[in-house]
Amino acid sequence: MASVEVTLGIDIGGTNTAFGFVDRVGTILADSSIPTRGDRPPQELVARLYEATTPVWHGLSDRCTLLGVGVGAPNANYYRGTVESPPNLSWPGVTNLAALIEGLYHLPVAVTNDANAAALGEMLYGAAKGMKDFIEITLGTGVGSGIVAGGDLIYGADGFAGEIGHTIVDPVGRQCGCGRRGCLETYTSAPGVCRTVLELLAERIDASELRAIPPGQLTAKLIAEAANRGDVIAKAAYEKTGDILGFKLADSVAHTSPEAIILFGGVANAGALIFEPTRRSLEHHLLNIFQNKVKVIPSSLKEAGAAVLGASALIWRELQKKK
Ligand SMILES: [Zn+2]
Repeated sequence: MASVEVTLGIDIGGTNTAFGFVDRVGTILADSSIPTRGDRPPQELVARLYEATTPVWHGLSDRCTLLGVGVGAPNANYYRGTVESPPNLSWPGVTNLAALIEGLYHLPVAVTNDANAAALGEMLYGAAKGMKDFIEITLGTGVGSGIVAGGDLIYGADGFAGEIGHTIVDPVGRQCGCGRRGCLETYTSAPGVCRTVLELLAERIDASELRAIPPGQLTAKLIAEAANRGDVIAKAAYEKTGDILGFKLADSVAHTSPEAIILFGGVANAGALIFEPTRRSLEHHLLNIFQNKVKVIPSSLKEAGAAVLGASALIWRELQKKK
């Protein structure tokens, strides 16, 4: 029986690190996860990861060949294989993550940030299959983006290209985790939608079921559920989120003229609540030559496996380039 070629996709998150062995068409043959323990040194995570992946690999090794390792991690630098002062992990300075992983697995390793990995996963296995120009926007705890132009992910001069989440909507606006004010992320991430609800509740006197929820327990999902029941404040919050997202994405369209913008993550799961105002606002702010051309569509990757698939897509791409 011919051996199935697989890659190992690893997604390092603030809380958990997920991994999976993935074949060329995007089937996850086996997967698992371990706690990241971001307060400990990266060497320890890589060692625990190796320990956790080994028995899972042994279940596959008689029928599969492992070709490489792809990693999605916060603030990862594709060119250098490094992770640089990542948010949510107390890894000081610059960590050469690719070298640490290569040292144990003795296979080709590629790293990039999670949003770039999501864009590659979308291109290989998801809604962007066959597209050469698109932008993937991840709307979760933060806002990430991966920009694909001419069939390639844009890494830029230093490897950090595609940080649409930290382009500025309002220079005197909300304080962002990056230290500046008014980044797109502060309005269109899941916590951003919650901030908008709290502002609307303070400004307006409309009745809203959200008034009964303690601020700390508010989530983008609860707000979407309330909006679907007709809650005025919840609906207004998603309207405002889409207005801002569409307005900012009109700039991105001018930069790379994508065929589609693909929305992924918790806020995108609100469906029409977010897609309709985003499309409306995008069209309203687009330069006329771009109008009625850019699709705004949902990701077709399942949220649970998407990060692992994206990381695996990254190394599949690298192996392909080497051929
Ligand atoms: Zn920011």
